[in-house]
Amino acid sequence: MVIILLGPPGVGKGTQAVRLAEELYAAHVSTGDLLRAARREGTELGQKAQAYMDAGDLVPDELILGLVREHLAGIEPGTAVLFDGFPRTTAQADGLGGVLGELGRRVDGVILFEAPDETLVKRLSGRRSCPDCGAVYNVYYNPPGAEDTCDRCGGSLVHRADDAPDTVTRRLEVYRDQTAPLVAHYDGQAAPLVRVRADRAVDDVYADFREAVEGVR
Ligand code: ADP
Ligand code: AMP
Repeated sequence: MVIILLGPPGVGKGTQAVRLAEELYAAHVSTGDLLRAARREGTELGQKAQAYMDAGDLVPDELILGLVREHLAGIEPGTAVLFDGFPRTTAQADGLGGVLGELGRRVDGVILFEAPDETLVKRLSGRRSCPDCGAVYNVYYNPPGAEDTCDRCGGSLVHRADDAPDTVTRRLEVYRDQTAPLVAHYDGQAAPLVRVRADRAVDDVYADFREAVEGVR
């Protein structure tokens, strides 16, 4: 099973994907997480991606497709895959179709998470992330037990530089211009596109997400 989690930054894709991946023993493939890891490790890809990420712009399609292709090659065939934050352009969607085809797989469903911009802005302003283990918190909705410290691994939490207000504005613009067209791209195709209202409590969103995924399995 291959599922795409589509939706704007801050809508809760990562939060929901981590939980479902744990329940289904699925691979959670977040291109944002993979790029941040590449930056931390100082790889050539990480260096190339840095300026785009800092500006809130998209990293070029060919770099992303190379990254995804390489990452998928390391995932056991048959493992369920949840894509989070990928694809983000129609060129990436087409590229994904090709890569999956080579592996004898296809996209089984697209889950579109939706919430108003003011919800996204508030969530991103309160997001705190653990650079060591990837755990995500929110100072308003899901604070860590001890301020700025990861409950899971004890790492020091950060407010991502690209969660600063100006960059968030840019990222929302980029989503509208370059990623939102994927809704029409996928809607009406063989794989179903299911909308989930994400401006609700995490558990309520998860219940609908879970049901949507069951429906496309
Ligand atoms: P995305 O992966 O879509 O960018 P995240 O999963 O990182 O979004 O969530 C963005 C922020 O909002 C995080 O701080 C997270 O803890 C918080 N969050 C996620 N889902 C909810 C929710 N349903 N209600 C309140 N806060 C949420
Ligand atoms: P995210 O963690 O999904 O919010 O992504 C953080 C940043 O990484 C984005 O603002 C982009 O600069 C870059 N990025 C992540 N995924 C992609 C992608 N699929 N295509 C292009 N850029 C991406």
